[in-house]
Amino acid sequence: MVVRAGDDERPDCLHCVHYFVTWESDRPRGCRAYEFKSAELPSDVVFSSSGERCQCFERKPGAKRKPRLLR
Ligand code: SF4
Repeated sequence: MVVRAGDDERPDCLHCVHYFVTWESDRPRGCRAYEFKSAELPSDVVFSSSGERCQCFERKPGAKRKPRLLR
């Protein structure tokens, strides 16, 4: 089941199936959907580089029903 965040919400990567943690201290956060690693939360990188919110959020099974707002 694909669940996408609403337009007025920034998706919480920590509840997304595409999020992963790396061993790289300078790039500890990763996104499999967009295929990058970064120091910042991937959804913040997507927003700052494209000007649009992430459209690939998929909630992990068992995660909170509604994506948590980060700001
Ligand atoms: S798909 Fe979006 S919400 Fe999921 S980890 Fe990547 S940037 Fe974050």
